[in-house]
Amino acid sequence: ARRLTVLIKLYINLSLFLALVINYMAANLRLDGKVAIITGGASGIGEATVRLFSSHGAAVIIADIQDSLGLSVATSISPPGRCNYVHCDVRDELQVAAAVKYTVQTYGRLDIMFSNAGVMGSLTGILDLDMNVLDDLMAVNVRGTAAAIKQAGRAMTAAGIRGSIICTGSVAAVRGGFAPAAYSAAKHAILGLAKAAAGELGEKGVRVNCVSPFAVATPLSCGDGTITAEEIEGFASSAAALKGPVLRSGDIAAAVLFLASDESAFVSGHNLLVDGGVTEVNGSFAKVIQELLP
Ligand code: NAD
Repeated sequence: ARRLTVLIKLYINLSLFLALVINYMAANLRLDGKVAIITGGASGIGEATVRLFSSHGAAVIIADIQDSLGLSVATSISPPGRCNYVHCDVRDELQVAAAVKYTVQTYGRLDIMFSNAGVMGSLTGILDLDMNVLDDLMAVNVRGTAAAIKQAGRAMTAAGIRGSIICTGSVAAVRGGFAPAAYSAAKHAILGLAKAAAGELGEKGVRVNCVSPFAVATPLSCGDGTITAEEIEGFASSAAALKGPVLRSGDIAAAVLFLASDESAFVSGHNLLVDGGVTEVNGSFAKVIQELLP
């Protein structure tokens, strides 16, 4: 009988300990029970965000045009079913609407839309701008973002969900000279779309924000291998006011996680720059102090 009492006590203590661990883990899952769509989630910043969102308890749908890559990212996420892939060319509003419909039918709701799919276009100057390249760039970056905000906004407001929509801007969304003119124009337009939508959807409790990265080594910035990841990272580190850290996709994903989670419950219409101060800080006085002052 004494042995049985010890065993029962051990069982109770173990159960209490397990309950504490589960509670602790749940408290640290910042997107527990949420459902998210990530456009452009097959690669780069989108992929890093897919992985981070999933690890924080969200069900994630990758909406992209790179089918085999998107599927392989989705199947690499555990537990199985936590992440799914849908083919979705964001230039086509019907495909965006279908991705939203699939998400709501499969997971019952949509809490987060990360409109992140984007292309850089060709690296030409304004004097050699190809209008067809400009049109396609606008179609992916601007039309795609507008469709994502519209379709996600409709699903969220129809269901009375106080969701969060995040759009990927860029340092080229707030300053000229960081990227080709067409890309800069498209990214400025995304900021305008997000601010306008924040005004309208805010009436229904839906938040709309942007995240704006400086140069991150991804297939978009490295092109077809003409620029190496080290060169991109070196460029960002030397141009940023902040010295020390190297900007990576995971840093952007962390900013998006904040904007997606309830921690940013009163943040809307905001553009969160993840740029080491490059757009706001002029380093010349710091150099004067270092070089001229004793
Ligand atoms: P990436 O090329 O790794 O990812 C872009 C993804 O978008 C790819 O998976 C691609 O298949 C997808 N995509 C392209 N066209 C699409 C379409 N029509 N429909 C659906 N998906 C489409 O590049 P990334 O750097 O991770 O880019 C993500 C976002 O970050 C883009 O909006 C980009 O403009 C922005 N951004 C990137 C940087 C950088 O330095 N890498 C800096 C600032 C902003």
